[in-house]
Amino acid sequence: MFEIHTLRLGELMIPQGESLLRDPIHAWYVTDGTTRILVDVGMPGVEETRRRLGIAATGGGPDSLVRTLGECGTDPGAIDIIIATHLHFDHAWNLDLFPQACVVVQRDEVFHAVDPVATQRIYYLRETLLSLLARKKPSGLRLIDGDVDLMPGVRLMKVPGHTPGMQVPIVSTTKGKVALVSDLGDHYRCWFPADPRATEHPMRFMTGSYLPGAIRSESERVYQDSMARVQAACDIVIPAHDFRIPSHIPAEWFEVPASTRGDLSHSKADHSKAAHSKAAE
Ligand SMILES: [Zn+2]
Repeated sequence: MFEIHTLRLGELMIPQGESLLRDPIHAWYVTDGTTRILVDVGMPGVEETRRRLGIAATGGGPDSLVRTLGECGTDPGAIDIIIATHLHFDHAWNLDLFPQACVVVQRDEVFHAVDPVATQRIYYLRETLLSLLARKKPSGLRLIDGDVDLMPGVRLMKVPGHTPGMQVPIVSTTKGKVALVSDLGDHYRCWFPADPRATEHPMRFMTGSYLPGAIRSESERVYQDSMARVQAACDIVIPAHDFRIPSHIPAEWFEVPASTRGDLSHSKADHSKAAHSKAAE
């Protein structure tokens, strides 16, 4: 049985009209006390994010990973396996911190990173691919095709939607199965679009269905089929970019958040600080 620690690595400030929306970036440390797994490796640091994507950020980079892993009592050198849910910049930037670990990624995701749909070109950074190519030991990279039982208690599901080679780990814990869904429905409102606990704008006609995220490579039907398949295979879902996700699972356990409080993606963030620092440059 595994425990899951959420690593809060930083935030992106996404321009939205005149405002900036805060977008939290997470990775997950998953361990049964013997095997140490990292699900995703986070975003570039503040300077790199601004230079490469033209957006403001806080945290990120290798420092935030080292610090948050340290808070879990471990360090990058102790990680055995990295599950890359997909290769977007905010999930797969810091691979070089883990030269000894085996990176597990869907083969179709690597192909898509080389030649993405046009709307996603900005999300794949060449350093991520170079980092995969540079993994010297054959044991340092495992490309997989489709659903795979990685080990007892950790199943990988290939779930196209956000990207063609997206994969979601289903992790067994003492309370049940947890799907770390990453960007396949990156907020609770995508999974429970009719539930007033999950969204400030419940859509009753969506009861029992799923709201695909705005960034997608596949059709809405394919995306929703992937979400339905994941929901059927787990007890709770943990979306990647929601402020309300549990910090330690199964100690903290809920299917739907208690309220919409903290779902800042709905509200315009106070960006006076960010605007001020930008003006000061
Ligand atoms: Zn993504």
